Amino acid sequence: MKKDQLLTRRRALIAGVGVLGGAGAAGLLTRGTGGEAGPSAAPAPGPPARRPLKPSAYRLQPLAGYGPPVDSAGTPVRREPLLRMTGIGRTMVLTFDDGPDPRYTPDILSTLRQYDVRAMFFVCGEMAAEHPDLLAEMADDGHVVGNHTWSHPLLTGLTRGRIRAEMERTSEIVEKAYGERPLWFRAPYGAWNRAAFQLGAELGMEPLAWTVDTLDWTEPGTRTIVDRVEGGAGPGVVVLAHDAGGDRSQSVWALRDYLPHLLDAGYHITVPRRYQV
Ligand SMILES: [Zn+2]
Repeated sequence: MKKDQLLTRRRALIAGVGVLGGAGAAGLLTRGTGGEAGPSAAPAPGPPARRPLKPSAYRLQPLAGYGPPVDSAGTPVRREPLLRMTGIGRTMVLTFDDGPDPRYTPDILSTLRQYDVRAMFFVCGEMAAEHPDLLAEMADDGHVVGNHTWSHPLLTGLTRGRIRAEMERTSEIVEKAYGERPLWFRAPYGAWNRAAFQLGAELGMEPLAWTVDTLDWTEPGTRTIVDRVEGGAGPGVVVLAHDAGGDRSQSVWALRDYLPHLLDAGYHITVPRRYQV
């Protein structure tokens, strides 16, 4: 790809994620029903794989009913987080939580850049405040930065006021360092409650969970992390990994291994967009 095309694409990506949908549709994402949905789906169409990966055990979950109520800012107040992407083809999303951490995040950014791939970083405000240069780098490379609270507390144990402060401060520091307010929120430990959904919507953010958990924070070994990503790969899958919060060398090495495999298998690694409906 020519450099000017790359730049255009990068701008388009940044513009795409910067547009807040009027009705707050999640666009490419769908909410899950919290369980596995029967037998494996047939493999999705796509380029022939040199090394085929196991198709996902999940089926796409259609949105049901008339959708959630929409708050005054136009973002829906959901009752459960979004778990995966909808759409056609072999599209996957890679997400990295808890950073940025100068020991690991630059390596991850470098690998993503090497393969011209965009990912999502759910940052903690206190980390972002210390390393704004890394958020600027994420913006330059077209990555999406989400809000993962300021200090990574268990939200279900906090008052509404504390939750609001955790989320607001983080959105502010992200806006300052990354250039735009985050449009996505992820609760620490995946522990959501009503206040988190409501306050997230007030701040213009959609709640995004994940489909495949690498459990990389348990430091299970690089091979195990790679196997979990490749074994869980499938159309619409959102992968959870971490670039901070402990020794994340295995997460860094694993990405260098599974990313080229996913691309060879025909997966399009992308970031979700929100658009007007
Ligand atoms: Zn986290």
